Amino acid sequence: MDLKYFTLSEFDSPDEPGSGSKMDKDFLEKLDYARGNASIAFKITSGYRTPHWNDNVAGGRIGSSHKKGLAADIACVNSRNRQIIIKALMDVGINRIGIGNTFIHADVDKSKDANVIWLYN
Ligand SMILES: [Zn+2]
Repeated sequence: MDLKYFTLSEFDSPDEPGSGSKMDKDFLEKLDYARGNASIAFKITSGYRTPHWNDNVAGGRIGSSHKKGLAADIACVNSRNRQIIIKALMDVGINRIGIGNTFIHADVDKSKDANVIWLYN
């Protein structure tokens, strides 16, 4: 895997150094390509999560795709960057997107509905 913009450690679960290596490779390549197209920094606020981190610390859902290495959250706090990031994600085929007040969740979990955008609130 050859990532141009990201390093795997950006995707580590905070309680397990090195666990960013558990991220799905195809997903990371898509994210990296989207980052190039977007031409703005993608700051990863959550990538891989151990079951402990997801369920007990991050407040994630039980079936979170973060535990499978199939989801990542990208920091985003303004409407212009939100448009740029979401367009870039969709252009590379990332078709499950969640929008929070301060982040965008990108997700390619094929066991869940495709082509959806949801809100966190
Ligand atoms: Zn997320």
